[in-house]
Amino acid sequence: MNADIIKKQIIALKNLNTPNSEFIVNLFEYYLKMQNSKKVILDSDFITVVNENYNLDDVIKINKYTPNKLITDNSTIYINLNNYEIGENWFYNFQNNLCRIYSNLIKTKNEVLTEEILIDKVLDIKNNDYTKKYIVDSKKYKLYKLIKNLDKIITSSNLKNIKFLIKYDEEDILKYNFVLKELKMALEVIREENKKKKILYLYDYFSDYLDGEFRNYNFCNFKNNQCFAQYDKNNKFKFPYTEYNGCCYDVRNKVQCNNLDTASCGKCKIKSLSCKLLICGYLRSKGINYSIYDSLLTKSFFKLHQKLDCVWEFYIDEKEMIKRMGKASLLYR
Ligand code: SF4
Ligand code: SF4
Repeated sequence: MNADIIKKQIIALKNLNTPNSEFIVNLFEYYLKMQNSKKVILDSDFITVVNENYNLDDVIKINKYTPNKLITDNSTIYINLNNYEIGENWFYNFQNNLCRIYSNLIKTKNEVLTEEILIDKVLDIKNNDYTKKYIVDSKKYKLYKLIKNLDKIITSSNLKNIKFLIKYDEEDILKYNFVLKELKMALEVIREENKKKKILYLYDYFSDYLDGEFRNYNFCNFKNNQCFAQYDKNNKFKFPYTEYNGCCYDVRNKVQCNNLDTASCGKCKIKSLSCKLLICGYLRSKGINYSIYDSLLTKSFFKLHQKLDCVWEFYIDEKEMIKRMGKASLLYR
């Protein structure tokens, strides 16, 4: 996506000043901010990224674990991340949606922008299939299978150092940074002995990630205690059920959820992952969709019922959820 074109479009959208123009401005303003701030690939004490003409043959001494996937030199496991499919995750789903909106915007750049054009041609709500999945490269290895393997290798081999070898283009930095962050979390989960703490790490990770996405892109864009879906007259969905406070409504008792702290700008008093994962049809029709089933880390660690707990146990705090989910072991152990 071309930053100069985006900047010009942002000015045109700001002049339009409608609910959907503001929504698109929020998406692209944060996208540009991320592009500008992350020029360096993520690095850490146990992940080393190599971006040079690395001759992998130089480091292949033993390849005894999983042929063609991992290579090791007795003290370090080297993993060529370019051999793995890194696109199967919710980060990619969202980035693909941004690219879709961007290319629609470019196609309509000569038209006079109106709210109707944004809905019909740019967001293209009627034709947007938000259930469509990323097309995986079948020649590449599955990353979640690597994570499950890593656990066995680390615990059985005493090999403590892990190096990810990557060759990347500037444009790919955001994508690789996301995957490396997830791999870092996966290694922390694997190295933690206590099962409930493992689940806690993952639960916190997902909660913080979703909070960050909703805060940074400002999808719900609250104004005067009404969310985007509540004040946009073009919302055809019969949700949320109330006129104020977004979707923080207790459907069981048909009252406003009592975890909502109205005294503190409508903040939630608890940490419910299911609530964070609930994205209304109105936002999903614009391509905002974070499914726990698409997450690399849930594919690697959670059993089906643990994923279902994440999605369906609304209004329940983290502590109770960790207790429930911790009754079963994780997928890989
Ligand atoms: S997710 Fe909830 S708060 Fe956000 S726009 Fe949809 S209904 Fe409103
Ligand atoms: S528990 Fe869920 S519905 Fe209730 S206030 Fe918190 S986020 Fe909203």
